[in-house]
Amino acid sequence: MQEVSSHTFSYWEKQYLAHTHWLIVGAGLVGLQSAIALKEQFPNKRILVIDEKALGNAASFRNAGFACFGSAGELIDEMRRTSADEALKLYERRYLGIQKLIQNFGKEAIGFEATGGYEVFTESEADKFSDISAQLMGLNQQLQAIHGNANTFQLKEIGSTGMRALPTAVFAAEEGPIQTHLLYKAVREKAAKVGVEILEGYTVAAIDDKVGGVSIWLSDALEIQCDFVLVATNGFSKRLMPEVAVSPARGQVFITEPLPYQPLNGIYHADDGYIYFRSLGDRILIGGGRNQAFAAEETMQMHNTELIRNYIHQYVSEVILPHRPKDNPVKFEYQWAGIMGMNENRNPIIQFHSSRILLAIRMGGMGVALSSWVAEEVMKQVKEIVI
Ligand SMILES: Cc1cc2nc3c(=O)[nH]c(=O)nc-3n(C[C@H](O)[C@H](O)[C@H](O)COP(=O)(O)OP(=O)(O)OC[C@H]3O[C@@H](n4cnc5c(N)ncnc54)[C@H](O)[C@@H]3O)c2cc1C
Repeated sequence: MQEVSSHTFSYWEKQYLAHTHWLIVGAGLVGLQSAIALKEQFPNKRILVIDEKALGNAASFRNAGFACFGSAGELIDEMRRTSADEALKLYERRYLGIQKLIQNFGKEAIGFEATGGYEVFTESEADKFSDISAQLMGLNQQLQAIHGNANTFQLKEIGSTGMRALPTAVFAAEEGPIQTHLLYKAVREKAAKVGVEILEGYTVAAIDDKVGGVSIWLSDALEIQCDFVLVATNGFSKRLMPEVAVSPARGQVFITEPLPYQPLNGIYHADDGYIYFRSLGDRILIGGGRNQAFAAEETMQMHNTELIRNYIHQYVSEVILPHRPKDNPVKFEYQWAGIMGMNENRNPIIQFHSSRILLAIRMGGMGVALSSWVAEEVMKQVKEIVI
Protein backbone atom coordinates (compact mmCIF):
# COMPACT_ATOMS: atom_id res chain seq x y z
CA MET A 1 0.00 0.00 0.00
CA GLN A 2 1.33 3.44 -0.88
CA GLU A 3 2.27 5.68 2.08
CA VAL A 4 0.44 8.96 2.19
CA SER A 5 2.42 12.08 3.33
CA SER A 6 3.86 11.52 6.84
CA HIS A 7 2.34 14.63 8.35
CA THR A 8 -0.24 17.17 7.36
CA PHE A 9 -1.30 20.12 9.46
CA SER A 10 -4.94 20.36 10.44
CA TYR A 11 -7.12 23.28 9.44
CA TRP A 12 -7.10 24.31 13.11
CA GLU A 13 -3.30 24.35 13.39
CA LYS A 14 -3.16 26.49 10.27
CA GLN A 15 -5.64 28.94 11.79
CA TYR A 16 -3.72 29.03 15.08
CA LEU A 17 -0.37 29.61 13.42
CA ALA A 18 -1.53 31.84 10.59
CA HIS A 19 -0.05 35.08 11.91
CA THR A 20 2.05 36.55 14.70
CA HIS A 21 3.53 40.00 15.15
CA TRP A 22 6.88 38.72 16.37
CA LEU A 23 8.16 35.21 15.88
CA ILE A 24 11.22 34.20 17.86
CA VAL A 25 13.08 31.13 16.66
CA GLY A 26 14.71 29.46 19.67
CA ALA A 27 13.43 29.11 23.24
CA GLY A 28 16.84 29.29 24.88
CA LEU A 29 17.76 31.95 27.45
CA VAL A 30 18.31 34.54 24.72
CA GLY A 31 15.09 33.85 22.80
CA LEU A 32 12.95 33.79 25.94
CA GLN A 33 14.42 36.85 27.63
CA SER A 34 14.16 38.79 24.38
CA ALA A 35 10.54 37.65 24.05
CA ILE A 36 9.81 38.91 27.57
CA ALA A 37 11.35 42.30 26.74
CA LEU A 38 9.33 42.49 23.49
CA LYS A 39 6.07 41.59 25.23
CA GLU A 40 6.70 44.15 27.97
CA GLN A 41 7.29 46.78 25.30
CA PHE A 42 4.38 45.71 23.06
CA PRO A 43 1.74 44.19 25.39
CA ASN A 44 -0.90 44.05 22.67
CA LYS A 45 1.24 42.24 20.11
CA ARG A 46 1.43 38.48 19.71
CA ILE A 47 4.91 37.27 20.64
CA LEU A 48 5.38 33.63 19.66
CA VAL A 49 8.51 31.61 20.45
CA ILE A 50 9.09 28.40 18.49
CA ASP A 51 11.60 25.70 19.29
CA GLU A 52 12.16 22.34 17.68
CA LYS A 53 12.95 20.75 21.03
CA ALA A 54 11.53 20.90 24.53
CA LEU A 55 13.06 23.00 27.30
CA GLY A 56 15.82 24.93 25.52
CA ASN A 57 17.61 21.70 24.97
CA ALA A 58 20.66 22.92 23.05
CA ALA A 59 22.72 24.99 25.48
CA SER A 60 20.39 26.78 27.88
CA PHE A 61 19.39 23.58 29.70
CA ARG A 62 22.68 21.76 29.11
CA ASN A 63 25.26 24.20 30.45
CA ALA A 64 27.47 24.01 33.53
CA GLY A 65 25.72 26.70 35.55
CA PHE A 66 28.60 29.17 35.89
CA ALA A 67 27.68 32.82 36.34
CA CYS A 68 31.09 33.94 35.16
CA PHE A 69 32.67 36.54 32.95
CA GLY A 70 35.82 34.53 32.21
CA SER A 71 39.19 34.15 33.87
CA ALA A 72 42.17 36.50 33.56
CA GLY A 73 43.90 33.87 31.39
CA GLU A 74 40.91 33.79 29.05
CA LEU A 75 40.81 37.58 28.88
CA ILE A 76 44.48 37.69 27.88
CA ASP A 77 43.90 34.89 25.35
CA GLU A 78 40.85 36.72 23.95
CA MET A 79 42.90 39.93 23.62
CA ARG A 80 45.54 38.01 21.68
CA ARG A 81 43.03 36.32 19.36
CA THR A 82 40.87 39.42 18.69
CA SER A 83 41.89 42.80 20.10
CA ALA A 84 42.02 44.47 23.52
CA ASP A 85 38.98 46.48 22.59
CA GLU A 86 36.84 43.48 21.51
CA ALA A 87 37.95 41.42 24.51
CA LEU A 88 37.15 44.18 27.03
CA LYS A 89 33.76 44.78 25.41
CA LEU A 90 32.95 41.10 25.80
CA TYR A 91 33.99 41.13 29.46
CA GLU A 92 31.90 44.18 30.17
CA ARG A 93 28.86 42.55 28.55
CA ARG A 94 29.20 39.35 30.54
CA TYR A 95 29.87 41.28 33.75
CA LEU A 96 26.82 43.49 33.25
CA GLY A 97 24.80 40.48 32.14
CA ILE A 98 25.37 38.70 35.45
CA GLN A 99 24.26 41.79 37.40
CA LYS A 100 21.12 42.05 35.24
CA LEU A 101 20.33 38.36 35.59
CA ILE A 102 20.47 38.65 39.38
CA GLN A 103 18.51 41.92 39.34
CA ASN A 104 15.78 40.54 37.04
CA PHE A 105 15.21 37.18 38.68
CA GLY A 106 16.78 37.32 42.17
CA LYS A 107 19.70 35.29 43.56
CA GLU A 108 17.53 32.67 45.21
CA ALA A 109 15.28 32.07 42.24
CA ILE A 110 18.27 31.17 40.05
CA GLY A 111 20.31 29.43 42.77
CA PHE A 112 23.18 31.95 42.61
CA GLU A 113 25.82 31.58 45.32
CA ALA A 114 28.40 34.35 45.77
CA THR A 115 31.37 31.98 46.13
CA GLY A 116 33.63 33.70 43.63
CA GLY A 117 35.49 31.95 40.82
CA TYR A 118 39.06 30.63 40.79
CA GLU A 119 41.47 30.22 37.90
CA VAL A 120 43.81 27.42 38.92
CA PHE A 121 47.15 26.32 37.49
CA THR A 122 49.02 23.04 37.63
CA GLU A 123 52.70 22.96 38.65
CA SER A 124 53.74 22.67 35.00
CA GLU A 125 51.93 25.97 34.37
CA ALA A 126 54.02 28.00 36.85
CA ASP A 127 55.38 30.27 34.10
CA LYS A 128 51.92 30.95 32.77
CA PHE A 129 50.71 31.77 36.30
CA SER A 130 53.60 34.24 36.77
CA ASP A 131 52.86 35.81 33.43
CA ILE A 132 49.14 36.25 34.21
CA SER A 133 49.84 37.48 37.77
CA ALA A 134 52.15 40.13 36.38
CA GLN A 135 49.37 41.42 34.14
CA LEU A 136 46.58 41.52 36.77
CA MET A 137 47.09 45.14 37.80
CA GLY A 138 46.91 46.31 34.19
CA LEU A 139 43.83 44.17 33.48
CA ASN A 140 42.09 45.47 36.61
CA GLN A 141 42.77 49.06 35.58
CA GLN A 142 41.34 48.47 32.12
CA LEU A 143 38.27 46.74 33.58
CA GLN A 144 37.77 49.45 36.20
CA ALA A 145 37.52 51.98 33.42
CA ILE A 146 34.58 50.10 31.92
CA HIS A 147 32.61 48.84 34.92
CA GLY A 148 33.99 50.66 37.96
CA ASN A 149 35.23 47.66 39.97
CA ALA A 150 38.88 48.25 40.90
CA ASN A 151 39.60 44.66 41.93
CA THR A 152 38.04 42.29 39.43
CA PHE A 153 40.90 39.82 39.70
CA GLN A 154 42.91 39.14 42.88
CA LEU A 155 45.43 36.52 43.94
CA LYS A 156 44.01 34.13 46.53
CA GLU A 157 45.13 30.91 48.24
CA ILE A 158 43.01 27.93 47.20
CA GLY A 159 43.27 26.54 50.73
CA SER A 160 42.71 22.93 51.63
CA THR A 161 41.20 21.67 48.40
CA GLY A 162 43.80 18.90 48.16
CA MET A 163 44.20 19.71 44.48
CA ARG A 164 47.53 19.03 42.77
CA ALA A 165 47.77 22.67 41.70
CA LEU A 166 49.68 25.81 42.58
CA PRO A 167 48.57 27.05 46.04
CA THR A 168 47.59 30.48 44.69
CA ALA A 169 44.81 31.05 42.18
CA VAL A 170 43.44 34.11 40.41
CA PHE A 171 40.14 34.90 42.12
CA ALA A 172 37.16 36.85 40.77
CA ALA A 173 34.84 37.65 43.69
CA GLU A 174 31.75 38.43 41.64
CA GLU A 175 31.45 35.07 39.94
CA GLY A 176 29.59 32.05 41.31
CA PRO A 177 27.50 29.02 40.50
CA ILE A 178 23.84 29.03 39.60
CA GLN A 179 21.40 26.15 39.29
CA THR A 180 20.72 25.91 35.56
CA HIS A 181 17.26 24.37 35.92
CA LEU A 182 16.18 27.10 38.36
CA LEU A 183 17.31 29.87 36.03
CA TYR A 184 15.51 28.33 33.05
CA LYS A 185 12.37 27.81 35.17
CA ALA A 186 12.44 31.44 36.37
CA VAL A 187 12.83 32.76 32.82
CA ARG A 188 10.13 30.49 31.43
CA GLU A 189 7.68 31.34 34.20
CA LYS A 190 8.22 35.04 33.62
CA ALA A 191 7.66 34.55 29.88
CA ALA A 192 4.37 32.78 30.56
CA LYS A 193 3.34 35.44 33.11
CA VAL A 194 3.80 38.35 30.72
CA GLY A 195 1.93 36.51 27.94
CA VAL A 196 4.67 35.15 25.68
CA GLU A 197 3.48 32.04 23.79
CA ILE A 198 5.94 29.16 23.55
CA LEU A 199 5.48 26.35 21.04
CA GLU A 200 7.81 23.38 21.09
CA GLY A 201 8.19 20.57 18.60
CA TYR A 202 8.17 22.74 15.47
CA THR A 203 11.32 23.13 13.37
CA VAL A 204 11.73 26.32 11.39
CA ALA A 205 13.00 25.19 7.98
CA ALA A 206 13.18 28.51 6.13
CA ILE A 207 12.69 32.23 6.59
CA ASP A 208 11.46 34.18 3.61
CA ASP A 209 11.71 37.97 3.83
CA LYS A 210 9.00 39.62 1.72
CA VAL A 211 7.71 43.14 1.24
CA GLY A 212 5.60 44.02 4.27
CA GLY A 213 6.30 40.87 6.29
CA VAL A 214 8.19 37.62 6.74
CA SER A 215 7.08 34.08 5.98
CA ILE A 216 8.33 31.36 8.26
CA TRP A 217 8.19 27.85 6.86
CA LEU A 218 7.99 24.97 9.28
CA SER A 219 9.49 21.63 8.23
CA ASP A 220 6.19 20.18 7.14
CA ALA A 221 5.50 23.12 4.83
CA LEU A 222 3.29 25.19 7.09
CA GLU A 223 3.64 28.91 6.61
CA ILE A 224 3.40 31.45 9.44
CA GLN A 225 3.09 35.10 8.47
CA CYS A 226 5.02 37.42 10.80
CA ASP A 227 5.63 41.12 11.01
CA PHE A 228 9.12 40.56 12.45
CA VAL A 229 11.39 37.63 13.24
CA LEU A 230 14.09 37.29 15.87
CA VAL A 231 16.53 34.47 15.18
CA ALA A 232 17.95 33.17 18.49
CA THR A 233 19.26 29.79 17.31
CA ASN A 234 22.86 30.25 18.50
CA GLY A 235 24.98 27.18 17.54
CA PHE A 236 22.36 25.99 15.03
CA SER A 237 22.19 29.25 13.11
CA LYS A 238 24.10 28.03 10.04
CA ARG A 239 21.30 25.55 9.27
CA LEU A 240 18.96 28.48 8.64
CA MET A 241 21.52 31.04 7.49
CA PRO A 242 24.70 29.43 6.15
CA GLU A 243 26.33 32.84 5.68
CA VAL A 244 26.46 33.84 9.38
CA ALA A 245 29.82 33.76 11.18
CA VAL A 246 28.78 31.30 13.91
CA SER A 247 30.05 27.75 14.13
CA PRO A 248 28.66 25.03 16.35
CA ALA A 249 30.95 23.96 19.18
CA ARG A 250 30.08 20.98 21.31
CA GLY A 251 30.57 21.20 25.06
CA GLN A 252 30.71 17.99 27.10
CA VAL A 253 29.85 17.87 30.80
CA PHE A 254 30.31 15.15 33.43
CA ILE A 255 29.21 14.80 37.06
CA THR A 256 30.93 12.46 39.51
CA GLU A 257 29.36 10.06 41.91
CA PRO A 258 28.82 11.50 45.45
CA LEU A 259 32.21 12.05 47.13
CA PRO A 260 33.10 11.30 50.77
CA TYR A 261 34.13 14.97 51.13
CA GLN A 262 33.68 18.03 48.93
CA PRO A 263 37.09 19.59 48.18
CA LEU A 264 35.71 22.53 46.19
CA ASN A 265 33.71 25.62 47.01
CA GLY A 266 32.38 27.47 43.99
CA ILE A 267 33.49 27.58 40.38
CA TYR A 268 36.94 26.91 38.91
CA HIS A 269 38.54 27.49 35.52
CA ALA A 270 41.76 25.96 34.18
CA ASP A 271 43.69 25.74 30.92
CA ASP A 272 42.56 29.16 29.59
CA GLY A 273 38.94 28.24 30.34
CA TYR A 274 38.99 25.02 28.30
CA ILE A 275 38.40 23.12 31.55
CA TYR A 276 35.80 24.25 34.09
CA PHE A 277 34.60 22.54 37.26
CA ARG A 278 32.50 23.30 40.30
CA SER A 279 31.09 21.89 43.48
CA LEU A 280 27.56 20.54 43.14
CA GLY A 281 26.34 19.29 46.53
CA ASP A 282 28.61 16.32 47.32
CA ARG A 283 29.61 15.87 43.67
CA ILE A 284 31.91 17.62 41.21
CA LEU A 285 30.62 18.86 37.86
CA ILE A 286 33.33 19.23 35.24
CA GLY A 287 33.27 20.07 31.55
CA GLY A 288 35.35 21.18 28.62
CA GLY A 289 38.32 19.66 26.83
CA ARG A 290 37.20 20.99 23.44
CA ASN A 291 40.78 22.06 22.74
CA GLN A 292 41.74 18.35 22.58
CA ALA A 293 39.74 17.90 19.37
CA PHE A 294 38.67 21.26 17.93
CA ALA A 295 37.66 19.91 14.51
CA ALA A 296 35.65 16.96 15.83
CA GLU A 297 33.88 19.18 18.38
CA GLU A 298 32.70 21.60 15.69
CA THR A 299 29.46 19.67 15.38
CA MET A 300 25.74 19.89 16.11
CA GLN A 301 25.69 16.27 17.35
CA MET A 302 24.82 16.20 21.03
CA HIS A 303 26.67 13.19 22.37
CA ASN A 304 29.75 12.51 24.50
CA THR A 305 32.97 11.03 23.14
CA GLU A 306 35.48 8.59 24.63
CA LEU A 307 38.38 10.93 23.90
CA ILE A 308 37.00 13.88 25.87
CA ARG A 309 35.57 11.69 28.60
CA ASN A 310 38.99 10.04 29.17
CA TYR A 311 40.78 13.40 29.08
CA ILE A 312 38.40 14.93 31.64
CA HIS A 313 38.53 11.83 33.81
CA GLN A 314 42.32 11.99 33.82
CA TYR A 315 42.18 15.67 34.87
CA VAL A 316 39.85 14.82 37.78
CA SER A 317 42.06 11.94 38.93
CA GLU A 318 45.39 13.73 38.58
CA VAL A 319 44.58 17.33 39.47
CA ILE A 320 41.33 17.60 41.44
CA LEU A 321 41.31 14.33 43.42
CA PRO A 322 44.99 13.23 43.38
CA HIS A 323 44.72 11.55 46.79
CA ARG A 324 41.92 9.21 45.86
CA PRO A 325 43.18 5.59 45.95
CA LYS A 326 44.21 4.47 42.47
CA ASP A 327 42.24 1.22 42.86
CA ASN A 328 39.03 3.19 43.39
CA PRO A 329 38.91 5.71 40.53
CA VAL A 330 36.10 8.22 40.68
CA LYS A 331 33.05 7.38 38.55
CA PHE A 332 31.04 9.75 36.41
CA GLU A 333 27.33 9.24 37.06
CA TYR A 334 25.96 11.83 34.64
CA GLN A 335 27.20 12.98 31.28
CA TRP A 336 25.74 15.02 28.45
CA ALA A 337 26.69 17.36 25.64
CA GLY A 338 25.30 20.67 24.41
CA ILE A 339 26.01 22.99 21.51
CA MET A 340 27.47 26.49 21.75
CA GLY A 341 27.64 29.13 19.02
CA MET A 342 31.30 30.12 18.50
CA ASN A 343 33.61 32.20 16.41
CA GLU A 344 37.16 33.47 16.79
CA ASN A 345 35.45 36.65 18.02
CA ARG A 346 33.15 35.64 20.88
CA ASN A 347 31.17 38.87 20.95
CA PRO A 348 27.55 38.14 20.10
CA ILE A 349 25.92 39.19 16.84
CA ILE A 350 22.91 41.39 17.60
CA GLN A 351 21.89 43.07 14.40
CA PHE A 352 19.20 43.30 11.74
CA HIS A 353 19.92 40.85 8.94
CA SER A 354 17.27 42.59 6.86
CA SER A 355 14.62 45.16 7.70
CA ARG A 356 12.39 42.58 9.45
CA ILE A 357 14.77 39.84 10.58
CA LEU A 358 16.86 40.47 13.67
CA LEU A 359 19.68 38.16 14.79
CA ALA A 360 20.74 37.53 18.41
CA ILE A 361 23.25 34.71 18.03
CA ARG A 362 26.84 33.62 18.82
CA MET A 363 26.82 33.53 22.62
CA GLY A 364 30.15 31.68 22.94
CA GLY A 365 30.89 29.73 26.11
CA MET A 366 29.35 32.21 28.55
CA GLY A 367 25.93 32.94 27.13
CA VAL A 368 24.20 32.52 30.48
CA ALA A 369 26.06 35.60 31.65
CA LEU A 370 25.41 37.43 28.40
CA SER A 371 21.74 36.58 27.96
CA SER A 372 20.06 39.36 30.02
CA TRP A 373 22.35 41.95 28.48
CA VAL A 374 21.56 40.59 25.01
CA ALA A 375 17.79 40.88 25.59
CA GLU A 376 18.26 44.57 26.47
CA GLU A 377 20.37 45.13 23.35
CA VAL A 378 17.72 43.44 21.22
CA MET A 379 15.16 45.93 22.56
CA LYS A 380 17.47 48.87 21.85
CA GLN A 381 17.78 47.77 18.23
CA VAL A 382 14.05 47.12 17.93
CA LYS A 383 13.22 50.57 19.31
CA GLU A 384 15.48 52.21 16.75
CA ILE A 385 13.82 50.46 13.82
CA VAL A 386 10.30 49.61 14.84
CA ILE A 387 9.03 52.43 17.03
C1 LIG B 1 28.11 22.19 27.76
C2 LIG B 1 27.90 23.67 27.87
C3 LIG B 1 28.27 24.32 29.04
C4 LIG B 1 28.07 25.69 29.17
N1 LIG B 1 28.34 26.28 30.36
C5 LIG B 1 28.07 27.60 30.52
C6 LIG B 1 28.23 28.22 31.77
O1 LIG B 1 28.57 27.57 32.75
N2 LIG B 1 28.02 29.55 31.87
C7 LIG B 1 27.62 30.30 30.79
O2 LIG B 1 27.48 31.53 30.91
N3 LIG B 1 27.38 29.72 29.61
C8 LIG B 1 27.58 28.40 29.44
N4 LIG B 1 27.34 27.80 28.25
C9 LIG B 1 26.84 28.62 27.16
C10 LIG B 1 25.37 28.97 27.33
O3 LIG B 1 24.65 27.85 27.81
C11 LIG B 1 24.82 29.44 26.00
O4 LIG B 1 25.63 30.46 25.47
C12 LIG B 1 23.41 29.99 26.13
O5 LIG B 1 22.57 29.06 26.79
C13 LIG B 1 22.90 30.31 24.75
O6 LIG B 1 21.53 30.59 24.81
P1 LIG B 1 20.74 30.79 23.47
O7 LIG B 1 19.34 31.05 23.85
O8 LIG B 1 21.43 31.78 22.60
O9 LIG B 1 20.92 29.42 22.67
P2 LIG B 1 20.38 27.95 22.93
O10 LIG B 1 20.17 27.67 24.35
O11 LIG B 1 21.28 27.07 22.16
O12 LIG B 1 18.94 28.00 22.26
C14 LIG B 1 18.76 27.96 20.86
C15 LIG B 1 17.46 27.22 20.64
O13 LIG B 1 17.14 27.30 19.25
C16 LIG B 1 16.48 26.09 18.89
N5 LIG B 1 16.57 25.97 17.45
C17 LIG B 1 17.70 25.98 16.70
N6 LIG B 1 17.40 25.91 15.40
C18 LIG B 1 16.05 25.85 15.32
C19 LIG B 1 15.12 25.77 14.23
N7 LIG B 1 15.55 25.76 12.96
N8 LIG B 1 13.79 25.70 14.50
C20 LIG B 1 13.34 25.73 15.78
N9 LIG B 1 14.18 25.82 16.86
C21 LIG B 1 15.51 25.88 16.60
C22 LIG B 1 17.26 25.03 19.67
O14 LIG B 1 16.49 23.85 19.83
C23 LIG B 1 17.55 25.74 20.99
O15 LIG B 1 16.60 25.43 21.99
C24 LIG B 1 27.52 26.43 28.09
C25 LIG B 1 27.13 25.78 26.92
C26 LIG B 1 27.31 24.40 26.81
C27 LIG B 1 26.89 23.71 25.56
